[in-house]
Amino acid sequence: MINQLIAIVTGGGSGIGFAVARKFTENGVLTYITGRDREKLENAAKELGELCRPARLDMNELDKIPGFIQEVAARHGHVDILVNNAGINLKKHLTEVTDEEFQRIITTNLTAAFVISREAVRSMLPRKKGCIIHISSMAAHYGIPNVVAYSASKTGLEGMTRSMAVDLSPEGIRVNCIAPGYIVTAMTSKAFNGDPQRQSKVLSRTPMGKMGNPEDIANAAWFLASDQAAFITGEVLKVDGGNSIGF
Ligand code: NDP
Repeated sequence: MINQLIAIVTGGGSGIGFAVARKFTENGVLTYITGRDREKLENAAKELGELCRPARLDMNELDKIPGFIQEVAARHGHVDILVNNAGINLKKHLTEVTDEEFQRIITTNLTAAFVISREAVRSMLPRKKGCIIHISSMAAHYGIPNVVAYSASKTGLEGMTRSMAVDLSPEGIRVNCIAPGYIVTAMTSKAFNGDPQRQSKVLSRTPMGKMGNPEDIANAAWFLASDQAAFITGEVLKVDGGNSIGF
């Protein structure tokens, strides 16, 4: 199809990534969703319909990433939109975090986002067109206890957003970031499970007094990916019900 937009949403089988993929497919974008769990991906793809393509890709297997992007680019000629959404968290006091655990969070959340971005950019350069969106967190904006590796990874993503935006602006490629506040997904139910204090702290400092929905992030991603955001790059957009400015 002429002018068919091609997107890749990492971690698109659930939560925020799934909502982003739904927004994209509803708007006619052919969207690859990636993850480790093949069954989850296939169920998600069934729900999203013919514009969704599930692809198993473990972001920890960095050497598999170039082949995946090359395959997509060879099939469609290009990649238009990349959303670096796949991520994991680890809640532990910093004295208990092992080197391996720290490294695993950094690899999944940050290094893999760099590697897949670099590969996608190679396919965007010839057309001088493309858009990358990283998904950060409030953990990059203020000190949240017991998430040292996660905070480091998300802060790294925000720095990378600005650096990549500067490098790629002359090439017509925009790079932005969304920092979600607290969104109802499997990740937050795990983080809040058995920790009601944490949950009430979150709600008490969120002026809107509620958690967000994955669709709130999907709407922001669709805006940043669209021509409506043609003059926006290097930006970190907080979508948080005011959580980051709450007292
Ligand atoms: P989910 O746990 O639902 O989604 C995470 C996704 O990442 C899953 O689909 C998972 O798929 C995928 N994933 C995890 N590890 C890997 C890996 N090694 N390789 C490939 N895919 C992987 O949580 P959310 O939707 O909440 O999280 C999505 C993003 O949003 C994350 O980056 C998170 O840090 C960020 N975020 C979430 C917030 C929230 O309040 N929910 C707040 C701020 C940021 P699979 O299991 O199939 O591998």
